[in-house]
Amino acid sequence: MSALLESYVSGAWFTPQIGADGGRPVLDAVTGEEVARVSSQGIDLAAAVAHAREVGGPAVRRLTFHERAAQLKALARHLGDLKDDFYALSRRTGATKRDSMVDIDGGIGTVFSYASKATRELPDDVVVLDGATEPLGRGGTFVGQHVWTSRTGVAVQINAFNFPVWGMLEKLAPTYLAGLPSIVKPASQTAYLTKAVVRRIVESGILPEGSVQLVCGSAGDLLDHLGEQDSVAFTGSAHTAEILRNHPSVLRNGVRLGVEADSLNCSILGPDVTADDPELDLFVEAVVTEMTVKAGQKCTAIRRAIVPEAMADTVVEAISARLAQVTVGDPADESVRMGALASLGQREEVRKAIEALRAGADIVYGDPDRVDVVGAGAERGAFMGPVLLRARPGAPEPHDVEPFGPVSTVLTYGSAAEAIELAARGRGSLVASVVTHDPQFARAVTLGLAPWHGRVLVLDRDDAAEAGQAGGHGSPLPVLVHGGPGRAGGGEELGGIRGVLHHMQRTAVQASPDMLTAITGRWATGAQRRAEEVHPFRKSLAELGIGDSITSATRTVTRADIDQFAELTGDTFYAHTDPEAAAANPLFGGIVAHGYLVVSLAAGLFVEPNPGPVLANFGVDNLRFLTPVKVDDTIQVTLTVKQVTPRRSADYGEVRWDAVVSNQDGKPVATYDVLTLVAKTWPQ
Ligand code: NDP
Repeated sequence: MSALLESYVSGAWFTPQIGADGGRPVLDAVTGEEVARVSSQGIDLAAAVAHAREVGGPAVRRLTFHERAAQLKALARHLGDLKDDFYALSRRTGATKRDSMVDIDGGIGTVFSYASKATRELPDDVVVLDGATEPLGRGGTFVGQHVWTSRTGVAVQINAFNFPVWGMLEKLAPTYLAGLPSIVKPASQTAYLTKAVVRRIVESGILPEGSVQLVCGSAGDLLDHLGEQDSVAFTGSAHTAEILRNHPSVLRNGVRLGVEADSLNCSILGPDVTADDPELDLFVEAVVTEMTVKAGQKCTAIRRAIVPEAMADTVVEAISARLAQVTVGDPADESVRMGALASLGQREEVRKAIEALRAGADIVYGDPDRVDVVGAGAERGAFMGPVLLRARPGAPEPHDVEPFGPVSTVLTYGSAAEAIELAARGRGSLVASVVTHDPQFARAVTLGLAPWHGRVLVLDRDDAAEAGQAGGHGSPLPVLVHGGPGRAGGGEELGGIRGVLHHMQRTAVQASPDMLTAITGRWATGAQRRAEEVHPFRKSLAELGIGDSITSATRTVTRADIDQFAELTGDTFYAHTDPEAAAANPLFGGIVAHGYLVVSLAAGLFVEPNPGPVLANFGVDNLRFLTPVKVDDTIQVTLTVKQVTPRRSADYGEVRWDAVVSNQDGKPVATYDVLTLVAKTWPQ
C-alpha cells in the first residue's frame, strides 16, 4: 500500500486516521500504479478554521500590502528553484512537459505577477482607497471616501483535479495580498502534487504560520465552520457547485461563494477568412492546441468551433490533418504531444459525454475507444486520442454536454447574429475567441459575446505571435479577469488588483477631511496643512509628514510670458497667440495662458532649486485645468504632502504632492498630483 497523504492543519502535518479501507487510492494516470492514499479522516476542521482565523489571519494582516508582496515574490523564487521535483510528480498526473509548464510555471508566474502588481499599484499600507473623495456638504467639512479593508475570516479554496499547482497559487496570491489566510482543499485525484508544493511553502517559512493550511481528502464538515467573514472559491463540476450553493453556511451564514464550473467555450471563425488567409491556420492551430494541452482537461478549452457553413469542410479537414500528427502516450517519452487523462474514471466520463454528443453530431476524427499509445501500457493508463465531431444543424447537445477531455465539436453559422446566438447557447462561458481580420465583424461579435463571457480573444495575423506567447485562447492571465457568467459559475478571479479587492470589504467612510486623513493615511482635500519654516523639498522621506505644505510666492502671467512660451514650444494655438480669434472662443473670450505654461510656472514657484533629498519628478496624476489664466492674472501654488510610500528595495521612496494653482481671486486654475522620488535620508 502506498503512503497516506498528509494534510497540514493547525501548525502540524497530520496523517489521516483511517480504518480498514486505508483511504481512497489515487492512481498514476500513466501507469495505473498507486501513487498515494487520500483521506481527511480524523482532521479537526473546526480547529483548522480557528487556527486560520486566530493565528494566520492576524499575522498576515499585521503586514502591509508591500510586505505581503515581498513575501510572495520570495515564495515564487523559492518554488521556481524547486520546479524539477514538481515536474517529476506532475508527469504522474498524465501531464506532458508542456502541460506541466502551464500548471507549474503558470502558477509561479501568477504569484510573481501579483507580487509586482501589488508593489506598484497598492499602497504600503493595509487599507486601499477606492475612487476620489466625495464632497458631502457645501462647506467642505464633511466628505466621503470608499475604502477597502481586509476581512477577518478565512479563504477556503476547493480545487479541481486539472491544475493542482496553478489552481492553488492563482487563488492563494490574491487572497494572501487581501490579508486572508487560506485553507487549500485540492481535488483528491492530483492532491499529491498540491501537497508537494504546500510542503515546500511550509518548509520555507516565508509565509507566516497559519496563513496556508492543506486538507487532503474530502472537505468533510469544513463548510459547517464558516461564517460571515469567510469565503469559498470553488473550481469543479456544476454538480458540486450546486451542492455548495445550497449549503446552509452559504444560504444562511453569509459565506461568500465564488464558483467556476462547466464552460462550453467557443471559437468563431470570421466570414472574411478564406483558405489562403493566415487566420485559418490560427483558428485550426488554436482548436488543436486547446484539444490537446492537458489532454483537453482545461476549463477554458475550445469545446465548440463555430465556422461559416462554406468553410466547414475545409476546417474539419485541416483540424483532422493536424490531429493526425498528435502522438499520445507516456509524457516521459520526448515524442509525445498529448499525455493521459487524469484517471480511468475521468476517461469513462469523457466517453459518456462523447456518446451524448453523438445524438446530434458525428465523429469526423478519432475513436474514443481506441488509440495508439507511445511508451506505456494502454490498458492501465488513462489514454484517449483526440476526437473531433461535426454537429448536425440545430443539435442542442454541443451547447449542453461538456466533454472534459480532448474533444471538440464543429458547428456552422450563416450570419454574425447566428454566430453570437450559438455562442450564447452555452449559457455563459469563461472565454471565447474570434478569429477574423475584419474589424466590423470583430466589433459586432465581440460586443455580442461579451455579456456571455468573462474574456474574449480577438485573434488575427497582427496579434497572433504575441497572443501565442501569452498562451492564446486557453490561458487565463493574472492581469485579466478569469471567470464567466451563468453556467460558467458567475465567479470572477484574477484580473490584477481586482482579484485582490474581490476578497476585501468595501466601506463608505463619512468624516471630516482631518479624520479621513488620519484614517486613510492619505491627505484629503480640506484637511489641515502644516506650513513650516523648512521647505518640504529640504526634508528627507523620513522627515516628511502628511500635510506638510508650502504656499509659494505669487507671479503675474504677462502677454510676453505667453508669447515666449508659444515661441519656445511651437504651441501657437490661436487662443494663446491671436487676440481676435481668441476673443471669439466661447470659453476664453481673449488670450489665455497655455495650461502647460501654468504648470511650468507653478513648478518654478514651488521648487527648491538646490541639491537636496528630492531626486526626481516622475510624473503628474489627475491634471485638470479648471479656470483659464488670462493676461496679467496672478497665480500662486500650494503644495501639500498627500502620501509617502517608501520603496522597499531602494534608498528612496515616492511622495505624492497635492498641487493647487489658484488665481488672484483664490479660484483654483489647475489641480494635480505631483509625483516625486525622495531620498529616505538626507544627507545620504
Ligand atoms: P468535482 O466538482 O467533483 O470536484 C472538484 C472539487 O470539489 C474537488 O476538490 C472535490 O474533492 C471537491 N468536492 C466534491 N464534492 C464536494 C462536496 N460535496 N463538498 C465540498 N467539496 C467537494 O469536479 P472534478 O474535479 O471531479 O471534475 C468533474 C467534472 O467537473 C469534470 O469532468 C468537468 O466536467 C468539470 N470540471 C470543470 C472545470 C471547469 O473549471 N470548467 C474544472 C474541473 C472540472 P474530491 O476530489 O476530494 O472529491
